Amino acid sequence: MSKPTLGIIGGGQLGSMLATAAKKLKIKTVVFSDDIDAPAQKFSDEFIFGKYDDLNKINEFTSKTDIITYEFENIPYETLNQINKIRPVLPKPSINRVIQHRLAEKDFINKLNIRTTQYVAITNKSELDTEQNLLPGLLKTTTLGYDGKGQHVINSFEDLNELNIDFSKGYILEKLVKLKKEISIIITRFSDKKYEVYEPIENIHEDQILKQSTIPADISDKILEQSKQWAMMLAEELKYVGTLCVEFFIDRNENLYVNEIAPRVHNSGHLTINAYNVSQFENHVRAVCNLEQITLNKISNAKMINLIGSQITIYRNKQLAPNEFFFDYLKKEIKHKRKMGHLTTLI
Ligand code: AMP
Repeated sequence: MSKPTLGIIGGGQLGSMLATAAKKLKIKTVVFSDDIDAPAQKFSDEFIFGKYDDLNKINEFTSKTDIITYEFENIPYETLNQINKIRPVLPKPSINRVIQHRLAEKDFINKLNIRTTQYVAITNKSELDTEQNLLPGLLKTTTLGYDGKGQHVINSFEDLNELNIDFSKGYILEKLVKLKKEISIIITRFSDKKYEVYEPIENIHEDQILKQSTIPADISDKILEQSKQWAMMLAEELKYVGTLCVEFFIDRNENLYVNEIAPRVHNSGHLTINAYNVSQFENHVRAVCNLEQITLNKISNAKMINLIGSQITIYRNKQLAPNEFFFDYLKKEIKHKRKMGHLTTLI
């Protein structure tokens, strides 16, 4: 049977790395993005530029592809659903719908008896006043927030007056966890109870943006086992196909919480490109295209740092050591707080 052509919705660095992994497997890719400068077009076989609700573009995209996946979760459900009627979309649009909504996501996780932070939906200012037991807390938009966007630390009710929040959007208030550490688990599910699970990755954030990821994570065996177990439970319950990331908090009393699920390949898994025999990107392509599952094998411990904004410029001309791997996302413009590239060091 000839290999399928893979459609990727979204044209950022995750799309680039998916396209690169597909190329290695001799799978053709078509990237569909609403950004004319999308960097992934430099790595894919074909590129379609258009708005995600443009039916003509959707038809062009589906006519050129056999299976469709996505590199970011904030794609309108209607678009994914529309595309799924013509070509299979993996992970399933219904999974994306649950996970892209913080409240639905947390309800889903808690139903499985998996711990999350305490939370409550907030639809107006006065509700916040009655939720004093969740303060200090983080007020987050229920949809579309990432890298700390749409998030506000609330220490007291008075903070709200200063912030002038638009409550026409949905909000969730989460109790602030006294963090000891953050870790993530990247897991690829192929089919029923068939997974490849990467070891926990320790993550450091700065200004709510991921700065550094390391393996091995400095955690207890109990946390190691529980985090893997929870990731497998979540992937199984969702009947997920592809690579998924579960982000966790560990508090100062060694309690583990799921922070959130990313229904896609994830920034903290970039080090898998160099540290494992099969990267998270290759595993995603293998799973969604129904290719062979290969047992994971770690090659080396590793550390990855994100190069944010102008940090990229030093690395563009730097002599690299043999254990260093530099990735330039080839974004058109350097912007403050924008992820421009990363460096993985095998350690
Ligand atoms: P998020 O976009 O929800 O993943 O949040 C980004 C980062 O903000 C997390 O990785 C944490 O460093 C921090 N953060 C988010 N929610 C909480 C919380 N409830 N308690 C403590 N830190 C948090």
